[in-house]
Amino acid sequence: MKVPMLDLTEQYQSLKGEINSSLEEVMSGARFILGDNVKKLEKDVAEYSNANHGIGVANGSDALHISLLGCGVEPGDEVIAPAFTFFATAGAIARIGAVPVFVDIDPKTFNIDPAKIEEAVTEKTKAIIPVHLYGQMADMEPIAEIAKKHNLAIVEDAAQAIGAEYKGKKVGELGTTATYSFFPTKNLGAYGDAGMIITDDEEVGEKMRVIRVHGSKPKYYHHVLGYNSRLDELQAAVLNVKFPHLNEWNKKRRENAAYYTKLLHEKLGDKVTTPYVEEHNYHIFHQYTIRVDKRDELQAFLKENGVATMIYYPKPLHLQPVFAELGYKEGDLPETEKACAEVISLPMFPELKKEQQEYVVEMIEKFYKEQ
Ligand SMILES: *Cc1c(COP(=O)(O)O)cnc(C)c1O
Repeated sequence: MKVPMLDLTEQYQSLKGEINSSLEEVMSGARFILGDNVKKLEKDVAEYSNANHGIGVANGSDALHISLLGCGVEPGDEVIAPAFTFFATAGAIARIGAVPVFVDIDPKTFNIDPAKIEEAVTEKTKAIIPVHLYGQMADMEPIAEIAKKHNLAIVEDAAQAIGAEYKGKKVGELGTTATYSFFPTKNLGAYGDAGMIITDDEEVGEKMRVIRVHGSKPKYYHHVLGYNSRLDELQAAVLNVKFPHLNEWNKKRRENAAYYTKLLHEKLGDKVTTPYVEEHNYHIFHQYTIRVDKRDELQAFLKENGVATMIYYPKPLHLQPVFAELGYKEGDLPETEKACAEVISLPMFPELKKEQQEYVVEMIEKFYKEQ
């Protein structure tokens, strides 16, 4: 049996008619930039997130970058973030000329450890970027308290967490802004790059809207330095067809996750560590990630047997060559480094079949029996 990490073909087949006709509509209408599809998606995603404003941008990385600019982060400022995340989280900070200050994770949830944030705050700190990794929200209440006390902005990196909840609150409700990525592999994926920022803050929202169009307002008059970073109308047309299905897809991911957890407990006991979900969290399982011994050997064995897996992430950001100047060394963030050595993400998508999951777990069981 072959089990891919992710298979987007079935989803396209089920929506093909609708997607193709809305793409055709855009092409016939010939309005390709910031048209009605982008407006509709911005409105719907903002509403879904209980936010006042949605600002479509070119991708999730720009959403982070423009959020930081919108919050007034400037060269030399410090921004606190986890090092156990995709590169874009810290890349957005460094692209401004600001300094990423990395904080260790809670080993249970893999999210930034709020207890370690305060000691990283200095006079130069301007913002915190909690990342809602794998689809589970970070512990936002203590983070919001620290931010309030020190007058810091919060930019929630929700690239992996559209639809997730924390204590009944949606992504973005406790932050200044939150950023989504619609990269094709995310829970709500476009057919190319796309992203969005949500916020309740009128002033920050307006600033970000202007930054995504070269800082132009009114047109051809520039008071701030912006970029060309717009959500493409064709991508918005695809996303508008897919968006109404998001909750149902997230639900299926959760069911698949529950099935993996059941099988893994039955067959492997405590040989592997299954995902820990805080009781107050609604986890949307962008990834189903476990901790194991002999991780690299397991991955090679699964590959030989037709099971694709991924390592999110093999090298922490504080030890990336591009950030060498920041002066971090091995051992600085022990939980982050341990997670990088132990995690492996199993195939996960809404259309994943029970038989495929059973095969994946059977192969994991086989690997450890042969050890
Ligand atoms: C995917 C991702 C991003 C970047 O999104 P793009 O749309 O690919 O630019 C940022 N942060 C995290 C945690 C992500 O997973």
